[in-house]
Amino acid sequence: MPQDLPSPGRCRLEHISAAAYTIPTDLPEADGTIAWDTTTLVVVHATADGVTGTGWTYGAAEIAPLVEHTLAPIACGRTAMDIPGAWLAMVRGLRNIGRPGLTAMALSAVDNALWDLKARLLRLPLHRLLGAVRDDVPVYGSGGFTTYNHHQLTDQLRGWLDLGVDAVKIKIGEDFGSNTSRDLDRVEQTLAVVGPDVQVFVDANGGYTTGQAVRVGHTLDVYGVTWFEEPVTSDDLPGLRTVREATRLDVAAGEYIDSLDTAHRMCAAGAVDCLQVDVTRCGGITELLRIAAVAAAHHLDISGHCSPYQHAPVLAAVPNLRHLEYFHDHARIEHTYFTGATAPRAGRLHVADTPGSGMTFDVERAAPFTT
Ligand SMILES: [Mg+2]
Repeated sequence: MPQDLPSPGRCRLEHISAAAYTIPTDLPEADGTIAWDTTTLVVVHATADGVTGTGWTYGAAEIAPLVEHTLAPIACGRTAMDIPGAWLAMVRGLRNIGRPGLTAMALSAVDNALWDLKARLLRLPLHRLLGAVRDDVPVYGSGGFTTYNHHQLTDQLRGWLDLGVDAVKIKIGEDFGSNTSRDLDRVEQTLAVVGPDVQVFVDANGGYTTGQAVRVGHTLDVYGVTWFEEPVTSDDLPGLRTVREATRLDVAAGEYIDSLDTAHRMCAAGAVDCLQVDVTRCGGITELLRIAAVAAAHHLDISGHCSPYQHAPVLAAVPNLRHLEYFHDHARIEHTYFTGATAPRAGRLHVADTPGSGMTFDVERAAPFTT
C-alpha cells in the first residue's frame, strides 16, 4: 500500500450516525396497493481516520435509532477496511429483533456507508474498489403513478424520452386490481407516447389475483409489453411462476428481498425471469453482490430497484446486470438533497470517477424535513 494511504490498523470506525428526513412528493403518488405523498429518506454517516462515508435507504424514521442504538455500537471500533466482518457482526446482532423490514434497511444503509467510506479512505471510486464491469449503467424511466392524469403521465414519459431511455415503466393494478380497464387504457396511452422503439414495462405491485394477472397478461402480450412486475404479491412464488408460464412477459419481482435466503428461494422457485434487488433493503452492498451471484447461478440477470444513485456504482460492478430503475420519486430526492447526481445520458447513468460513490448529502438543504 502506498505510504500516503491509511494503514488498515489506523482506520478504526469511530462514529456512525443516522438521521431521517420526510420529504413531500411533487404530486400525490400511488401504485396498485398503496398511496403516499411523502417519502422518508434515512441517511447514515460513518467516520474513520477523519474521513466520512455516506449510505442511505428509504423507509421510516424508526430506522435511524436502529442504526444508532443497535448497529453503531457493534460496528464501531472495528477496522473500516474489513466490511464483511462488520457486516457479519451486525447481522448476528440483529438475531433477536429480526432481520426483515426496518432492520434490513438499517443494516443496508450502514453497509452502504461503510463501502463508501472504504472507497474514500483508499481514494478510489466505489465501482473500482468493487471491481468495475462497466463505467455506466443502463436505466429505465419509472413512475407512471395511478394518481396521474392523462397530461401528467404524458409529461413524465416525454421527460424520460429526453434522457434517451429505451424502456419506461408505469404502475397498474389500480386499487388492488379493481380498475383493469383504466390500467389498460394507461398502457395504451404509454405505448402511443413512447412509440415502437421504446419498451413498455408495467408494475402491478401485487395488485392482482393470479387468474386476473394471467388475463391482463394476455392483453399485455398482444400490446407488446415485455416486463410484468409483481403481477401478484411477491410472497406468492407459485403465483408468479404461473404468470410466467402462461404469458410471454418477463415476470420480475424481488424488491422486498431482505437476505440471501429470500433471494435464493425466489430464484429456486422459478418465480422470475429477472431478479430485482434493492441495495437499500437487501442488506447493503455486501449482500447485493452475493445475491447477484446466486441469480447468476440460476442464469438470471438482476435489475436494481429504485434509489438510482445509491445503486449505480454498485451495479457497475455486477456482471449479470440487466438495468436499473430510474424511479421518479427517488431520482428527484437524490438530485435535490445530494450533490454529485448527474442526469442519465443516452439512457445510461455514468458512474463518477471520484472517490467513493460520488454523492455527497446536503445536510443543510434537507434540514427542514428532519423527522
Ligand atoms: Mg416495483
